[in-house]
Amino acid sequence: MKQRVFSGARPTGRQHLGNYLGALQNWVKLQEQYQCIYCIVDIHALTTLEDTGGLQKNIHEMMLDWLAIGLDPGKSIMFIQSHVPEVMQLHTLLSMITPLSWLLRVPTFKEKARLQPENINYGLVGYPVLMTADIVLYKAELVPVGEDQLPHLELAREIARRFNNLFGNTFPEPQAKLTSFPLILGLDGKEKMSKQLDNDIEIALSSQETIDRVMTAVTDPARRYRSDTGHPDICNIHQLHRYFNPFQLDDIADQCRSAKIGCVDCKQLLAQEINSTLKPLRERRAAIDAKPRYITEVLADGAQRARVIAKETLKEVKQKMGLI
Ligand code: SF4
Repeated sequence: MKQRVFSGARPTGRQHLGNYLGALQNWVKLQEQYQCIYCIVDIHALTTLEDTGGLQKNIHEMMLDWLAIGLDPGKSIMFIQSHVPEVMQLHTLLSMITPLSWLLRVPTFKEKARLQPENINYGLVGYPVLMTADIVLYKAELVPVGEDQLPHLELAREIARRFNNLFGNTFPEPQAKLTSFPLILGLDGKEKMSKQLDNDIEIALSSQETIDRVMTAVTDPARRYRSDTGHPDICNIHQLHRYFNPFQLDDIADQCRSAKIGCVDCKQLLAQEINSTLKPLRERRAAIDAKPRYITEVLADGAQRARVIAKETLKEVKQKMGLI
């Protein structure tokens, strides 16, 4: 039996290079070795979303990218969180055994409460309980996380452990599948690439749009004139060359340090390499998009397969809690 991996992502719509290099490439690799369950966590999104009008479009666009990148419904289960309603029941049951003090001390709760003081909703506090329900409902053994997310997983492990102590061994304590997610900076060269900050490069852009986006990127701020020597180590464009143009990386660094290449040429070269790397993905994306029912079918099939596991777990939980 392959070990089971669970990972979820909010429906953020079209994916960008940060998502691609940071998580999705890793997800594609994992599905070769593990039984992977990838979930679009639409209920989680409601804790911070005030306008749900674009939710379905975001899910569709995100799935187009996931499938184009190589997530394979023949290997992995992909579904929408709310399409498996058992997760909401398990969330309620786990909330009965989770001390409020555990939830109030979570740094992301404090941070979100700071960012949206007018909307500190009940769901926001219970976010880690729902996240635990997401994982343990499928008895997942591994969760791919970066080091910064370890405290969240630790809380999920604590909740699972508490349930096991109270009602008997039921859930495996999910382990971290530690992954070194590269931090991909956005076009501003300062913040992590993000849609909200409008500093991203979407996978689904056309070739020309990609060139236009890359040309807006901030580079080495000390290099004001073409004749100035540059510092590739602190340049965002050079970081992206690492992923899209690795064979020329050292050469570009040398040319930058000796001012033999200008930033405009360097960006054009990068845009060209991004376009050639993404060309097959973009073609696959267009082909999938041309089949109007395909994504609905993949998600329906994924939810059906996920529910088989979910129903079994929920029945066991209810029995152990004395509800049946
Ligand atoms: S030449 Fe390239 S690596 Fe050097 S500062 Fe300009 S964009 Fe960055």
